[in-house]
Amino acid sequence: MGEAKTDYEVIVVGAGVAGIYQIKRLVDLGIDATVLESAPDLGGTWYWNRYPGCRFDSESYTYGFSFSRELLDEWHWKEHFSSQGENLRYLNYVADKFDLRRHMQFNCKVEAMQFDEARDLWQLKISDGRTLTCRFVSLAIGLLSAPTMPKLEGIADFKGRSFHTFYWPHEGVDLAGKRVAVIGTGATAIQLIGEIADKVGQLTVFQRRPNWSAPLNNSAISADEMAGIRARYDEIFAACALTPGSFLHAPQDRGFYEVSREERLKLWDKLYDERGFGIWLANFRDIFMDEAANAELSDYIADRIRRRVRDPRVAEKLIPKDHGFGVQRLPLETKYLEAYNRDNVHLVDLSETPLVRVTGNGLRTTERDYEFDIIVYATGFDAITGAFDLIDIRGVGGERLAAKWKDAPSTFLGLLIHGFPNLLMPTGPQSASASTNFPRGIENNVNWCTDLLQYMRDRGYTRADASREAEARWTAYVAKTYEIMLMRKAKSWFTGYNSNVAGHEEGTIRYFLYNGGTPKFRAIANDVAEKGYQEIAFSAGERVGVQAPAAGASAARL
Ligand code: NAP
Repeated sequence: MGEAKTDYEVIVVGAGVAGIYQIKRLVDLGIDATVLESAPDLGGTWYWNRYPGCRFDSESYTYGFSFSRELLDEWHWKEHFSSQGENLRYLNYVADKFDLRRHMQFNCKVEAMQFDEARDLWQLKISDGRTLTCRFVSLAIGLLSAPTMPKLEGIADFKGRSFHTFYWPHEGVDLAGKRVAVIGTGATAIQLIGEIADKVGQLTVFQRRPNWSAPLNNSAISADEMAGIRARYDEIFAACALTPGSFLHAPQDRGFYEVSREERLKLWDKLYDERGFGIWLANFRDIFMDEAANAELSDYIADRIRRRVRDPRVAEKLIPKDHGFGVQRLPLETKYLEAYNRDNVHLVDLSETPLVRVTGNGLRTTERDYEFDIIVYATGFDAITGAFDLIDIRGVGGERLAAKWKDAPSTFLGLLIHGFPNLLMPTGPQSASASTNFPRGIENNVNWCTDLLQYMRDRGYTRADASREAEARWTAYVAKTYEIMLMRKAKSWFTGYNSNVAGHEEGTIRYFLYNGGTPKFRAIANDVAEKGYQEIAFSAGERVGVQAPAAGASAARL
């Protein structure tokens, strides 16, 4: 890639799952495009998160790309829930197989983007000092790519090693015999704790609020089993396309109250012991909306926790009391609860003794000082909009995206933003990709965005801006999808909660997810395209080589 080149038709920001697929589509269409990636290499989430235990909790064969039969036939997933190292190898394999690396530029952090209204171009300022221009930007910057640290004094004073899980050292960390602290009990910590409990000297978990979890029940995939999976790929992807979350796990078609308690218990026994998200997503739909149904399931899971954790006092501390099962993103675990049966694992309940500060030797709570060799911050992310906020994005009239989204994001289909023309978001807030098996949603979104590009190229349009009205309607509709959901009361990234980010603390709900399910989302988005994008104002500028719009392809249909 010639780094001297400064103008492209499309710039894709991010070389993770979405960026890889986006550049593949563009290259196939012969569109002049490049990927800018801030990391030294591709992989996005799977490049960064190298903490022990990091793996899919989507079935591997539902997570991989679906676009190439050859790729599906070649790749052997080794486990039902593949680990980070293998996932990164997979993404590299895809990039190399389709020769995509030559369209990628690494160590290129986009610091600012400004829409040039006179020329219908985006100008991007890169950390290496270059300014690049392009007609379209596809922001494939990930949903959970802006890690957040606790607001604690003394973090820099600690004399041992400390890091956020996102930045787990790539060369690995020798944990043997070490005194390790883990702060947080989200999906990341739950994977990490289960994996390292028997590898460290002492492990102390600092828990502010317990999180519901369920067993992953992972296992290896034999060559024979993989051959069977390959033969069923069409069936597998078709099944995913029909479920709300794009997983193989489809909700019960019977209602919670249509079956006896005995039948419910039988179903839960089966789902809890099966692989993956079944206990969450193949359950009764009522558990997401009905307090009593949710409470009965929560009691069931609490009993499972009591059966797995030997010390009843510890078990009670691990049972969430402030939210019901499945109303936050459910972490799947391997030996997580059993970790607390080990003599070298200790649980500190921060609701009783909050953290006061980090000291030179460890952590101080209101009760006492703890000494550690390593402190791990498993404290989560400024989800979805956090990565957008890290770029100074200015649209029409110099409007700043961070200002527009200060209180809450507003989008059209989660794919476009009014006032920010030609800006495409395959992984933005308010589309179905945020609430589903990510790659399935991402493929849909990339396809939709690429079709829009193609539509504009065919007609010589140089600018596409979703209308203010369409954005307002979509954003109100997304908020409505929260109304019946118990999740709206829970403190999680599903509602934009993060105690470490100003404005995202308790009390402010941000409508980040489209909760209507992927099939409905896809139908709505495809309908918009089929009807000629009536919610989008198109226009053609006078840039060299750009033709006037074809007759009948009217601009600005608001
Ligand atoms: P998270 O779910 O937001 O959890 C962060 C944890 O840190 C919570 O337990 C939180 O406590 C705690 N915490 C934050 N600030 C704190 C503070 N100042 N003091 C004490 N505790 C603090 O983040 P995550 O575990 O990284 O997971 C984020 C998302 O990443 C998941 O929901 C999932 O979507 C994704 N993920 C996916 C996988 C996978 O695919 N297998 C694996 C890991 C993560 P509170 O609950 O009290 O706020």
